[in-house]
Amino acid sequence: MGVALFDLQSQYLNLRSEINEAVGDVLAAGRYILGPRVQMLEEQVAGYCGVKYGVGVASGTDAIFLSLVACGIGEGDEVITTPYTFFATAGAISRAGATPVFADIDPLTYNIDPEKIEAGITGRTKAVIPVHIFGQMADMDAILTLARKYNLVVIEDACQALGSENRGRKAGSLGVAGCVSFFPTKNLGCCGDGGMVITSDEKIAAKIKALRAHGSSKKFFHDTAGCNSRLDEIQAAILLVKLKYLEEWLDERAALAAHYSRLLTDIVETPFVMPGNRHTYHLYVIRAPQRELIKKYLEKNDVSCGMYYPLPLHLQVAYESLRYRKGDFPEAEKASETLLAIPLYPELALSEAERIALLIRRGIAGE
Ligand SMILES: *Cc1c(COP(=O)(O)O)cnc(C)c1O
Repeated sequence: MGVALFDLQSQYLNLRSEINEAVGDVLAAGRYILGPRVQMLEEQVAGYCGVKYGVGVASGTDAIFLSLVACGIGEGDEVITTPYTFFATAGAISRAGATPVFADIDPLTYNIDPEKIEAGITGRTKAVIPVHIFGQMADMDAILTLARKYNLVVIEDACQALGSENRGRKAGSLGVAGCVSFFPTKNLGCCGDGGMVITSDEKIAAKIKALRAHGSSKKFFHDTAGCNSRLDEIQAAILLVKLKYLEEWLDERAALAAHYSRLLTDIVETPFVMPGNRHTYHLYVIRAPQRELIKKYLEKNDVSCGMYYPLPLHLQVAYESLRYRKGDFPEAEKASETLLAIPLYPELALSEAERIALLIRRGIAGE
């Protein structure tokens, strides 16, 4: 039987009646935009992450964009981030009118390397956006120390890391704002697009609440142009059902990851977990020089795998104007050539993980 990289169907089928009922309740109540479920979810996600406020928005991308705007970052400003992330991180910086400036990654965690940030700081640098890639938090203490030294805003891209922790502190709770995505494949996914900004800063929360509703904090009166970026009531209802299971799912992810790592550690580089970190394995990513060989063999055996990410952001056509060149960020480039994500989701059976590990072993042996 084939194995997909993600399996959204089994999660739904396991919760079918609960989810259908929650959606039916919203349909029957007739309140579809910013109703009580969005507010309840905002409170619950904020509580889960240990911050004061949550503001539901249309996507994780918008969460980043609106956080930047709320922090007053735009035209003429520079924002430092990692070149090894999904495009949305840098895309949101550009959309805010600012310029992304990249800093290379740590070769062990694939997260932005705090030691590489300082060289990118100029008089125009206003913010840093660390991305907690694959579900493991970046070195936030080092980043926060730098940010204090240079008076920079820190916005966390926690889109892949809801529930991840460093010494008990949740991803998204350490910067001025944390950005969460509810894209279907994320740790907590809805059935469409959705996102949230989490923050303990009352002013930022209020600004984002206004921005998501055309810059209005009072109906029909607009202080800024804002935009339309809201989390749907139906999606909030689905997420309220799923949030109850999140911790259980994260534990199942961790158990599968531990199993994979035990079985694979002698033949490929398995995920390195920084001391003090709780990795939530949004993606389980191995590193191997024989990536292509493994990928072909898995696919031949009907097991999906994925390259995250085949082209670092500094080499994207969209950023040609920034004039980066190949060789500028060697660790990100090396990662893009050697990393491979293999199937991991809570519903995956341990026996399936064992079979996949065996296929990887055979693939490397050139069978
Ligand atoms: C998914 C993701 C986003 C964007 O989230 P959407 O909800 O898809 O807009 C941003 N950054 C990272 C690192 C992501 O993985």
